[in-house]
Parts: sequence; structure tokens; C-alpha cells
Amino acid sequence: MEQPHEMRFKGLGVSEGIVIGQVLRMHDGARHVYHWRVNVADLEAERLRFRGAVQLAKTQVVTIKKQAEKREKQITDEQANAEWAVEVVGDRLLSLYSEIKDEYLRERGSDIEDVMQRLLVALSGVQPRHRNLSEDAVIVSQDLLPSAVAELDLEHARALATDTGGWTSHTAILARGIGIPAVVGLRDFYRRTRTGDKIIVDSTRNEVILHPSPGTLERYQAETLSRMKRELAGEVKESGPLRTQDGVEITLRANVEVPAEFEGVEKYGAHGVGLYRSEFLLARRGVTVSEQEQRLAYEEVARVAGKEGVIIRLFDLGGENLREQFQEPEKNPALGLRAIRFGLRNEEVMRTQVRAILVAAANGNLKIVLPMVADVSDVRRAKVIIQEEANSLAKAGRAFGDVSVGAMIEVPSAVFMADNIAKVVDFFELGTNDLVQYTLAVDRGNDEVADWFRTLHPAVLHSIDRSLKAAFRAGIPAIVCGEMASTPAYAVLLVGLGARDLSMTPSAIPRVRRALGGIDSREARTIAEECLSNETADDVEGIVRERFGKLWPHLFPPQSLPEHRQTHSQGK
Ligand code: PEP
Ligand code: MG
Repeated sequence: MEQPHEMRFKGLGVSEGIVIGQVLRMHDGARHVYHWRVNVADLEAERLRFRGAVQLAKTQVVTIKKQAEKREKQITDEQANAEWAVEVVGDRLLSLYSEIKDEYLRERGSDIEDVMQRLLVALSGVQPRHRNLSEDAVIVSQDLLPSAVAELDLEHARALATDTGGWTSHTAILARGIGIPAVVGLRDFYRRTRTGDKIIVDSTRNEVILHPSPGTLERYQAETLSRMKRELAGEVKESGPLRTQDGVEITLRANVEVPAEFEGVEKYGAHGVGLYRSEFLLARRGVTVSEQEQRLAYEEVARVAGKEGVIIRLFDLGGENLREQFQEPEKNPALGLRAIRFGLRNEEVMRTQVRAILVAAANGNLKIVLPMVADVSDVRRAKVIIQEEANSLAKAGRAFGDVSVGAMIEVPSAVFMADNIAKVVDFFELGTNDLVQYTLAVDRGNDEVADWFRTLHPAVLHSIDRSLKAAFRAGIPAIVCGEMASTPAYAVLLVGLGARDLSMTPSAIPRVRRALGGIDSREARTIAEECLSNETADDVEGIVRERFGKLWPHLFPPQSLPEHRQTHSQGK
């Protein structure tokens, strides 16, 4: 058979490294259920399909068979397709459960959801989600949702390559967190691959190579070997207080999503967990996780973080996060029922999570941060719920701990109302990923508009400046936890704008520590002020390149400084 030709595809390297491996194609199985009429002649086949699905799911849940076989009648009576039978019967059961007074029994409703979910996955013909990956699997997908990444057998997924995505999409964030290379925005790469194809993912050169020639393979094998040696030799572990050259103390915390990242918290000397993206807890299960399971997860992350504690973000569902599992498709998910809005609309989900956090706080240092609040009314409504749950725990005589409550500042309305919000919360967390997205109206996960996603846009810097000042005026801490904090040059600008507390993917901590430890915060302030007085992102980047290059050439060699690339303008 003729050897396929080597092909190179350009994208955006969002998580560093080089991997030689084999393609594993992965399709995102969204859950869409429609009702269609099945011909009488096909009813038997439909019944068999339903039974087959049940059979497949049986090994996972012992009770499932008993539940499911009762549903066959519906297929015959209503000439319904198997998915519809599952949906209708499941909904009926769920509404019955929601009316049960007894709290424990009511919570069993989540078991019904679990059963439904398993049946629908089985009917879709997709194998159970926890895949056994080969040793050198490179996941190739069109649009890999974070829930899918979170479910991968992370020990074995060696790298990711996707058609869409951007630097701050959650898949990219997770890849960096776990420490596997990733190249996104590869356009129509997925359809050109077959599972088992040889592939090289080279995020340092923003490319992937399909069917590499023997010569290319040899060069890459030599390169990966020498990189490994360099990395092992250069590994530094530092912890303890970080001070700039002029003695200003800066705190560096960790952002975490999944347990695979936990060991990095101690390893890289993080000052506790500044952002726990709790919705990934649901990603791994695919359904609402019970209070008890959540409590155990929060206690575990509290143990990992130690006395510095953990800031747990209430589920940031919707948007790109798990939308396929929890919501009807929305026309405009980023502006839809997401984050705190989802929680306020689905109060039971929020109350269960709040209870789990309060109870876990009896054994660890936990705080709550509210995602994507628009103004004080979102905060007030959430705080009423938190207070009510604390009261009912007290009444029931259950042990729980005090938690302070902060607000994510990540949409323009919150920036404008920051002085008001600061009066009703204990701290701010600045989510720069969404702040850039919403301030500039640029989808953070769409590579088509990546050229407009400009972190150093003056409008973004003004938003950060305004939010930090509001926090200082109110005397509350402000942690910057978006991806901006994990990029050394941007972190210096943040310090120049007055930030003293940053949270980032754990593996970024050493390089940010090195950069901030080598600068004078007063000089950073002068540069930040100059940036604020500029008109465009290009101007700001120009200033950063020039000033940083002159003041700190040892810390910022030219290639480490922001330079705007027209990522896709000249094709491949
Ligand atoms: C952000 O928006 O910057 C943030 C920290 O949250 P996420 O990336 O999860 O939206
Ligand atoms: Mg956000």
C-alpha cells in the first residue's frame, strides 16, 4: 500500500510540548432528543434497540434493567421511538420526585437522571465515556468540549488537536492544567484523519503533522529526547513569600479543575487554590452530583490546599460548559442561562451545592465565589440562598463552617457597578478570560475571531483598573484568576495596575514567580499607566515590548513578549 504523504496543519499552540503519537478521533455526543413516528412494521426493531441499549447500560447500574423494561409498553402504546420513551417516562418520574417532601427521597431524583442519561448514551450507540486510551493517544476532535476532556483517561491522553478553540477556551485551560500539549484552531483537520494515523503535535511551532515521513519522525524523536533532558535539569521548586525587587509581596494561587491537577498545587508552591472550577465535578459524572459526593470532593480539595484554603466557584454551567448535558441548545449560549443565572433559575442545584460547601467548611478553609454576576441583585439573591441554607443546617443541628462570599468580576456591567458590588461581598475575583470576551464582544472559543481577542486592549486594562480600584476603596481583596495572570508579561502589567494576588494554572507559577521576583513594582506601575493612556491593543503591545525589553531584557527576551500575530490571515 502506498504511504500517505506527510501533511502539516497550522493552528494555535495553547499548551506547550511536542508529542509523537497515534490519532484517536473523538466525536462530541450532544444529547438532542426528538420525537418521530415509528412505522408499525419497525416497532419490534425499535423495541429491540431499546432493549439492546438497556443491556449495554446494565453493567453500569444494577437497578437499571428493572426500571427500563417497564418502559417498553410506551413504545407500543404510543408508537414512540426508544429515546422518546426514556425522556417522557424519566420526566414523569422526575416531576413526581420533585414533589416529595422528604429531602433524602427527593434527592433520589438524581438517580433517575443518571439512569436516563445512561440509556440515552447507550441508544446513541456511543461506547461508555471512560475510554481506555492507548499509550500514545492523541485526541483529535472538531470541538472538544471541556466535559469530554474531563472524562478522558488523562494518564494516557498524550495530546489534543482540535479544529476550533482559542487560548482561553476551557479545553485549552485544562490541557495546560494537566500538562499535555494542545494545538487548537486547526480548521478542517479532523475530517482528514483516521483513528490510528501517525501524528506529531508540536505546539511550540503551532502545528500538527499527519503521516510524518521517516525523516521528520527521526528529527522529532531526537528533539523530544533533548527537551525531556532539559526539562528534568531545569525543574525548580520554590515556595514561600514572593516579593518584587522593591519588596512588594505578591500571592500566587492555583486554579484547578480536575484531580489530575491537584498534585501541582504543592509541587509548584501555590498559596492555596484561588479558583476551583467546580462544574468539572459534574463533567466527570454527567449528572447532578449528590450533596454527599460534592462534600467529599470539596473536603479533598481543601486538604490539597491546606490552611491557605480554596475558593470554590459555584457551578459555572451553560456557555461552553456542559451545555449539552444540562440545557436545551441556546442560540447565544455565552449570553444565555449560564453561571449564576443557571443557579438562580435552578435553585435546588445551587442549594445542594451550597449545603455541600458549608458542611465541608466545617473541616477545611473554604470560600464561595459567584460566577458571572451582573450586579448587586445577583449577589443579593445568591447570598439569601446561602444564608437560608446555613440557617437550615443550624436548625437541623448539622456541623458546618462559615464561608466568605466573593464575586467574579467578568462582565462589563459588573465592572461599571464594581463599587456597589464591593460593598456586598468579601472579595473580588477578576476573570480576565470572560472580561476580554465580553468587553470586546469576541467569542473566546472561536478561532475565526482570535485576532480580535486582545488581552492588552486598553478597554480591558481600564476594566481591570476600575475593578481593582473599587476593591481597594472598599478594603476587600481582589484576586486576578483569568489566564492573563499566568502569562509573565501580563502578570507584570497586572502588578503595575495594583494587583497583589494572582491565581493561575499551577505549572505557570514558577515562571510568573521568576518574572515578578525580578521587577520593581513602581516601574511596572509607570508602564501600566502609560498603557492606560493608549488607544489600541497594538499601541499597548508596542509599549510593553519596548519598555520590558529595555528594563528587563534578562527576564523578557523578545520572543516572550506579546506580539500580535495574524493567526489565520495567510492560510495554511
Ligand atoms: C475567567 O473568565 O477569566 C475565569 C477565570 O473563569 P473561566 O475561564 O472558567 O470562565
Ligand atoms: Mg469566567
